[in-house]
Amino acid sequence: MSGNSPFGTFFLPGPTEVRPEVLQSMLQPMLPHRGAAFEELFARIQRGLKPIFRTQRPVYVSSSSATGLMEAAIRCARPGAILCLVNGAFSERFANIAQSCGRDATVVGGEWSAPVSLDAVEQALKARPYAALTVVHSETSTGVLTDIQALTELAHRYDCAVLVDSVTGLAGVPVETDAWNLDFVLTGSQKALALPPGLAFGVASEKFIAEAGQAEGRGLYYDLVEFEQYVHKNQTPNTPALSLLYATAVQGERIAKESIERRWDRHTRMMEHTHSWVHELRQRVGAEFGVYAPFDACTSTVTAVTVPIGVSSDAIVKGVARRGFVIGGGYGKLKANTFRIGHMGDHTMEGLDAVLEATAETIEEVLDL
Ligand SMILES: *Cc1c(COP(=O)(O)O)cnc(C)c1O
Repeated sequence: MSGNSPFGTFFLPGPTEVRPEVLQSMLQPMLPHRGAAFEELFARIQRGLKPIFRTQRPVYVSSSSATGLMEAAIRCARPGAILCLVNGAFSERFANIAQSCGRDATVVGGEWSAPVSLDAVEQALKARPYAALTVVHSETSTGVLTDIQALTELAHRYDCAVLVDSVTGLAGVPVETDAWNLDFVLTGSQKALALPPGLAFGVASEKFIAEAGQAEGRGLYYDLVEFEQYVHKNQTPNTPALSLLYATAVQGERIAKESIERRWDRHTRMMEHTHSWVHELRQRVGAEFGVYAPFDACTSTVTAVTVPIGVSSDAIVKGVARRGFVIGGGYGKLKANTFRIGHMGDHTMEGLDAVLEATAETIEEVLDL
């Protein structure tokens, strides 16, 4: 991508396209990260992020990608077994992290085409006690959205904490951290927040962080107990990725200006528009293109489009690139038979129309219509 392309050409489901003024904000001089100027910057970031998380709790800022805070969630969950809900590539990663941190982890689910059912979760919770469960709110590999409010209600009846990866949920679809009593919810900078990659943000409930002290082997870099201590001083435990913090402050203010509710609505409209486009495309070209996610569990931020047998999703992605737009290929086991359009972050309906038109043209070319 050339640095001179106009905004509205990059529809990867992460990293997402960043507004020029947000990029520009990173070109500020360094600051000592212990001192008043930094604390002011950090407080500004908190004012931006808290309404996005819908929380009164402080927002931890980790200089890592989102996977870092997934690991932190596992390391800091109170002692006990962990139930991992798997319905896609990223929820599978969460389960792998639990196992690789030496936790007693049980997987429930496994099907990619829908959320893990509450029945299956309840069966598992009845069978034995779990300290926590892991869930991916918006599965970026499939476009499937899980109802984390209902899941949390259920889990809390069994005294099981809920660790939520909302990496492509937060700032694109409603997340009510406080009202839904989420124990820990995390995201990365480079998805629906439309910041460059390199930061992760998370919120822990008071109960979760109080119990985290009992977790042994939390390590150092991802010890949320440390994050909690520093966040109250408007600081981070270690040297933060300062340039990205400048961008976060500016983006938080941009999002406040739009309002989080309007941002959610814009994402809903982008999702609906993309889905209608898929259905019209299928009719027009007479080939089995479809939306992978079930109609009642779609995320607003990304659509995985299934392609008919015999059509190469890779050829579609490459043809779209020749027209000046970036979309995503399939992910994991859906690599060959889906492509993905990331309609999240700061994209507009007009921008989305342009990439969909380029994609339709490409498909007609690939099908030789
Ligand atoms: C992108 C993504 C991640 C991983 O994020 P990194 O920033 O690459 O570590 C985790 N979960 C979901 C749902 C994602 O979309």
